[in-house]
Amino acid sequence: MNSSPNPVISRNWSSVGRWTIFGTLICIAVSVAFNRIVFDDLGGDAVGRAVMSATVLPLLLGTPLFLFLSMRVRGLALSNMRLRVVARTDSLTSCLNRGAFAGRVEDWLHRAPQNATGALLMIDADNFKSINDLFGHQMGDEALTIIARSIRAVLRPGDVAGRMGGEEFAVFLPNVSEMEAQVVAERIRRAVYLAMFVPDGQRRHLSVSIGGAVFVRSTTFSTLFRIADQRLYGAKNAGRNAIAVAQVDDHPDIRLKLSA
Ligand code: GH3
Ligand code: MG
Ligand code: MG
Repeated sequence: MNSSPNPVISRNWSSVGRWTIFGTLICIAVSVAFNRIVFDDLGGDAVGRAVMSATVLPLLLGTPLFLFLSMRVRGLALSNMRLRVVARTDSLTSCLNRGAFAGRVEDWLHRAPQNATGALLMIDADNFKSINDLFGHQMGDEALTIIARSIRAVLRPGDVAGRMGGEEFAVFLPNVSEMEAQVVAERIRRAVYLAMFVPDGQRRHLSVSIGGAVFVRSTTFSTLFRIADQRLYGAKNAGRNAIAVAQVDDHPDIRLKLSA
């Protein structure tokens, strides 16, 4: 387990401390100023006592009050952060959901230079309906989590995995060549096929078909999505448990790789 402190939480604690000190000092300053204005006819000794009370009272009351308020604000900030993560995550597989995945890829493409390279892989579980029909929906869910885990296990840091809906996933590979994208697609196909899935006491192989669009110059998410999806159906028509990954401009049917 990772025991290193969470930087967001540490930042929140330091902001609690800062706001408590800042708020208390403001209270002291206001109280002192108020005493000086209201009691301007007091003698030197009385002014000293008034200033003392204007310092002690805010310290006694202001510190706990600001500490309390700052902690409430910190709690809200943490809840907000958790909600943002939940809103972007698919609850079953812990992959990014469709909207978050598309947003992440669009951001990357928007910031990338004209000659940026990369690939979008569309991944669809094969004959998934029969898994539900044979072993029940719960085992189907289990199979989806296994597929998601297998996909993530072969990705590099910086690659992005998303669940596009149902039994369909997508992976974005920034800065890869066509050959590297094919290698990753093949690793995913293999990892899913070799994953352990034992729904009824007997091991069953899961499999996915993968279509990929590789770009060598700036493009859009919708173009990549459309082409990768076309190639995915090429891989399905070729018999499933297969990959079809090629450059955006290449013919969709080429480089179809069938695997046993
Ligand atoms: P193909 O190889 O052509 O992709 O066939 P398929 O059976 O995988 O495709 P089809 O579209 O016919 O069926 C997809 C199935 O995936 C049907 C649906 O019930 C199931 N499914 C979609 N989302 C979930 C889910 O979250 N959990 C479970 N258990 N099943 C799901
Ligand atoms: Mg399917
Ligand atoms: Mg499907």
